[in-house]
Amino acid sequence: MNRVTIRILRSLFPKWIWFNDHSEGVTVTFDDGPHPDATPIVLEILKKHQVQAVFFCVGKSVEKYPALFQQIVREGHLVGNHTYHHENGWLTDAQTYLASVDRCASVFESRLFRPPYGKLPGFTTQKILSRGYKIVLWSWFSYDFHPKMTLKKLNKRIQNISGGDILVFHDNAKTAGKIGDYLELTLSNLVLRKIPTQPLNTT
Ligand SMILES: [Zn+2]
Repeated sequence: MNRVTIRILRSLFPKWIWFNDHSEGVTVTFDDGPHPDATPIVLEILKKHQVQAVFFCVGKSVEKYPALFQQIVREGHLVGNHTYHHENGWLTDAQTYLASVDRCASVFESRLFRPPYGKLPGFTTQKILSRGYKIVLWSWFSYDFHPKMTLKKLNKRIQNISGGDILVFHDNAKTAGKIGDYLELTLSNLVLRKIPTQPLNTT
């Protein structure tokens, strides 16, 4: 999504969080974990760069890999609800979708929610907000899972990152073989350009 698209979406969904407002720093987030091949690499690189990230975890994967989830929390990162089954909000009826959000919440607690695929109908949005969640989207998308993504293409994309952006990567089966290189490239570039990273402002 480019900035104009995000500005339009933002006016349509004012209660969704797209940016870290009034901030010089960028926030790094990961979706779809924990994953045994991807998450340990991600955690190692975050530790090396001393970055606190947000992991939007899928409930069933947290149940499957509880030790990895504990490691995420122990190493100081925030976690957020990404549903239990990773449903597409536009293709799933509200009742089923909300049951998946609640089931994920029964596995671990968080006030943060990110809809899989960024897709959430208005009615479901209201229901999730009324449960007390902050809905966090992103302003910069890595396309790290895309089969055609390369280090060269990513290097071009990361030049567009600026203060206040919320970045999204994925720790899942599709990215396991490359997320280490992508994340290292991105975080090194931020250091080079003197753009700090910062935890998500959740107030
Ligand atoms: Zn996802």
